[in-house]
Amino acid sequence: MRIDIVTLFPRMVEGPIAESILGRARERGLIDIRVVNLREYAEGRHRVADDYQFGGGGGMVLKPEPLFAAVEALRTPRARVVLLDPRGRRFTQEIARELGAVAHLILLAGRYEGVDERVSTALADDEVSIGDYVLTGGELPALVVTDAVARLIPGVLGDAAAAGQDSFARGLLEGPQYTRPEEFHGMRVPDVLLSGDHQMIARWRRAQALWRTWQRRPDLLETAELTPAEQKLVEEFRRGKGPDESWMRSA
Ligand code: SAM
Repeated sequence: MRIDIVTLFPRMVEGPIAESILGRARERGLIDIRVVNLREYAEGRHRVADDYQFGGGGGMVLKPEPLFAAVEALRTPRARVVLLDPRGRRFTQEIARELGAVAHLILLAGRYEGVDERVSTALADDEVSIGDYVLTGGELPALVVTDAVARLIPGVLGDAAAAGQDSFARGLLEGPQYTRPEEFHGMRVPDVLLSGDHQMIARWRRAQALWRTWQRRPDLLETAELTPAEQKLVEEFRRGKGPDESWMRSA
């Protein structure tokens, strides 16, 4: 998979993609992430990429020409052009999966007061927002999308099973996780996790994921695909029953 990030501020993006899991995935050739300096596609001696808004109003707007020229140079037959924009569809794990199935993503980071509307009308295939708040530019949103998409690519995460258990992977939040020591400040790791009984551990995790989702994001339970046993557990939550040992036998 290839991801091009088109930005006026390449250094904002280069550091994070060179580090840690993304950096290693690039080195191992699992993903090809390129940072493209929008200024290189701007014309004139000063390579200006923004201009005043027609109709007045403070702030500059990114001009259409450099963005169209950049996309024209980068486009491949299977490319999808995504404009990062707070008015776009709200990014979710499902959209990460959807974008992860695209061979080539071209992410356009806006700046200043935004981007000339003709980019949205005639260049972008998709517009994505990372949440209901406004940032100074599309660089952080582009990194968020890149990170969420990249970690779904087989081989990028060390443990292939890890992403499958993550929050939202199956429409639920993930349950609690523990590492050593077994006891810390008087808090013990639940016995079941030390039992070595993998079936029991899997049931416990599933039940804990349901419980946590019920407590923090009950709205997710309305769309999550639950087995009949899981539905029964949720019914018990509704009746006020909390976590107990019977979960591990039934979940
Ligand atoms: N005037 C615009 C508005 O009210 O919708 C906001 C422009 S914002 C200051 C500049 C750029 O940052 C946007 O063009 C977009 O690329 C990016 N941006 C800011 N917040 C974002 C968000 N929540 N999701 C995605 N991109 C965002």
